[in-house]
Amino acid sequence: MTEKDNRKVPLIDTHCHLDMSEFDNDREDVIARAKDTGFEALITAGSDFDSAARAMELATRHDFIYAAIGVHPHDAKDFSDEIYLDLVSRSRNRKVVAIGETGLDYHYDHSPRDVQREVFRKHLRLAKEAGLPVIVHSREAKEDTMAILAESGINQGVLHCFSGDLDMAEQAMSMGLSLSLAGPVTFKKSSRLREIARIIPDDYLLIETDAPYLSPEPLRGRRNEPSYLEYTARFIADLREISLDDLARITTLNAKRLFGIGTLPDRAEIAYQIRDSLYLNITNRCTNACSFCVKFRSDFVKGHRLRLSQEPTEEEITLSIGDPSLYKEVVFCGYGEPLERLDAVKDVARWIKERGGRVRINTNGHANLIHKRDILPELKGLVDSISVSLDAQDEATYNRLCKPVFKNAHAEIIRFIRQAKEFIPDVQATVVELEGVDIEKCREIAAQLGVKLRIRKLDVVG
Ligand code: SF4
Repeated sequence: MTEKDNRKVPLIDTHCHLDMSEFDNDREDVIARAKDTGFEALITAGSDFDSAARAMELATRHDFIYAAIGVHPHDAKDFSDEIYLDLVSRSRNRKVVAIGETGLDYHYDHSPRDVQREVFRKHLRLAKEAGLPVIVHSREAKEDTMAILAESGINQGVLHCFSGDLDMAEQAMSMGLSLSLAGPVTFKKSSRLREIARIIPDDYLLIETDAPYLSPEPLRGRRNEPSYLEYTARFIADLREISLDDLARITTLNAKRLFGIGTLPDRAEIAYQIRDSLYLNITNRCTNACSFCVKFRSDFVKGHRLRLSQEPTEEEITLSIGDPSLYKEVVFCGYGEPLERLDAVKDVARWIKERGGRVRINTNGHANLIHKRDILPELKGLVDSISVSLDAQDEATYNRLCKPVFKNAHAEIIRFIRQAKEFIPDVQATVVELEGVDIEKCREIAAQLGVKLRIRKLDVVG
């Protein structure tokens, strides 16, 4: 599971300490190895006055290295006005992408706790004034860390080398803060952390080495370095049942957005791969406006930009697919309801089937209402599998969550699922775990219809 291959993987190590003495004998070799591994960027974090200067020096010499500047809570006792002014001045450098690491460490208590809290607040104020994200260290100090973050009103940053519980993770994400996972997630006794790593929504997930500390398994005990990040990345990808490429794309995009590094993809993808399936993004249009729909919060899904500026033609769709037989299945599922474009779906599905591919449609089940006729017979022989969003146990709940443009949409979805079984070999219903959704009642509806029910987690797409 943790085997490393020689392929280049475009990761970003969002937290390492390249200036530390552990790298004095081979620093440039360590940096070269990271570059050879395919890294898009490294963020080296200063931990005191001198270290911030060294981090900036490295960032100045290497294009793909960026600096975070701050004073570690261990050294909070040495913080001074002079250091604060120095950080203010350095924060204006374009290669400085974050303030930190700062925070609270009640495990070692190297600085008095009241001093740590005061210095932490100063860093948060600086981050807000500089318009930079903050990198937070918190060890055995959950309550105070979260209280100080909340009172600061900060909404961009990361809890680095996250080791807290689910409640802390949820509090952080509700403030808009990301969670960065490091080598400890790979350790045998980290079952709580693994569970968190499995369920963090894509948008909040970052990865890091914290090198030279905390090497991941199977390298635990050695000095850590950025090129080992792939072990942690691969481990988390396995936990989330996605590929290493998916994990790299998601976390690299998140790091670029949070720290303002590099460029983001500027055009929507028509065909995009998740695991071994190819997804087709053919329209933004939809007859629902679901409260949980990812498109109202982000232009990206699993690191792919999906918001279309115009709908692709059928030719553009088939060109984007390439060889459909290379995938487990080709899925019509994007930022809208694919059956809004029924003719395009039928033509492209036929094209895929002629080339040995399998076709699935993810739909909201409104197609008969949209086209004012029973469209399912038209899909016979073209579609292998269909996944219909049931989304609620009754009309009132459906209307509240999904805000359909049609009346009686929920009743029509049930009719659609029943009819789909006549024309499509594999039919399933889906529901998102949300407050107010009665999963057991949805299960009963699916059982009465004779279809499987797939329960989806909120914010997990694809
Ligand atoms: S049906 Fe799907 S695409 Fe349409 S709003 Fe709901 S979640 Fe979004």
